[in-house]
Amino acid sequence: MEPKRDYYEVLEVPRDADAKTIKRAFLKKARTLHPDVNDAPDAEERFKEVNEAYTVLSDDQKRANYDRYGDPNGPAGFGSDYVDVSDIFGGGGFGFGDIFDSFFGGMGGRGSGGQAQRTRGRDMGIRLTVTLEEAAAGCTKTVAYTRLAPCEDCGGSGAAEGGQLRTCERCHGTGRVVEVQRTIFGQMQTQGPCPACNGQGQVIDHPCETCGGQGRTPSREKVEVEVPAGVHSGQTLTIEGKGEAGLRGDACGSLVVSVEVAESERFERQGDDLYCTVTVDALQAIVGTTVTVDGILEGERVTVRVPAGCQFGQRVVVEGCGMPRMGMVARGSLVAVVQIETPRDLTASQLDAVSAIVSARGGEGTAEKDLEPEGFSAAAENAAEHFAHERWHAPKNPFKGDRR
Ligand SMILES: [Zn+2]
Ligand SMILES: [Zn+2]
Repeated sequence: MEPKRDYYEVLEVPRDADAKTIKRAFLKKARTLHPDVNDAPDAEERFKEVNEAYTVLSDDQKRANYDRYGDPNGPAGFGSDYVDVSDIFGGGGFGFGDIFDSFFGGMGGRGSGGQAQRTRGRDMGIRLTVTLEEAAAGCTKTVAYTRLAPCEDCGGSGAAEGGQLRTCERCHGTGRVVEVQRTIFGQMQTQGPCPACNGQGQVIDHPCETCGGQGRTPSREKVEVEVPAGVHSGQTLTIEGKGEAGLRGDACGSLVVSVEVAESERFERQGDDLYCTVTVDALQAIVGTTVTVDGILEGERVTVRVPAGCQFGQRVVVEGCGMPRMGMVARGSLVAVVQIETPRDLTASQLDAVSAIVSARGGEGTAEKDLEPEGFSAAAENAAEHFAHERWHAPKNPFKGDRR
């Protein structure tokens, strides 16, 4: 067995050094030799040596015995009063955490909260697009995504058969290590999660081979998402436990599904109201008519009552036929924006009848007798042009703006 080095040599202090000097020397060495910050293969041995030297030289009686007999326990001593490193970390009077706290600006992990890194799985976000019809009726959608899921081979524990959790040797269970770098400004210390245990403070002695001890593996998952009727774009649905799995069986995060409602060809949604166009011919607009349109729900037929004298772009509101209001029985309105087309297929006698009305109202109103083969009349053509003109000047989207 190699003879012990002299304690004063170990700490590099003179034999008459006072307690303050000894302590300072110890801390200085401990800071560079601590297994957390020093990767050298002999770092731990040297740290133990420094620790032992300090344990003796910081105790007046032991120091006196050592000075006089070369043994801290006096002439009849048996071996050294060696204190194991782990015992020191175990606390009691002179806890190492305290030293590092004061040494590194009070950022030590021990007792200062945040002892180990968070191990709960993170929340995950996913986007789901539904049609307006699906949003109206509500639907169940299956979404597929990849997440870190609990490991199937170890049930999420991270341990192989017979494996056990034990305190991480690198960080001694604190989950944090101190990095010391030499820079032109001197030594810089930064704290970070312990790489050996991922900041957990514990490692598994026989880790599961599938997940490497994490208790989770990448996995393609499918989950059913219940989309409520009346959902709006941008709303989120949270599914607990379907996000990233936690480390070694800790809780999974949530899956946050962000719903996107696709635009519809037939309807434009404004809040819970649905806007659509209905087209009637000019004569129907004059006398009023009823138009039936397909509603947003499957098989739904909505009756739109176009009033007599209806104008181009007029809005006819059918209450209770819009989108369902989320979580309620009530529905918004269906708003039919009336488009007017001039009929071009009137027979000669029908045209005469209209002309008679027009002349009775004081206009020219004489149906041209030399009708084109298609039956176009100058009057009808003018009217068609007029409406085309109207359309041209109508807002690009007749749904926008206030209702009625
Ligand atoms: Zn596993
Ligand atoms: Zn560790």
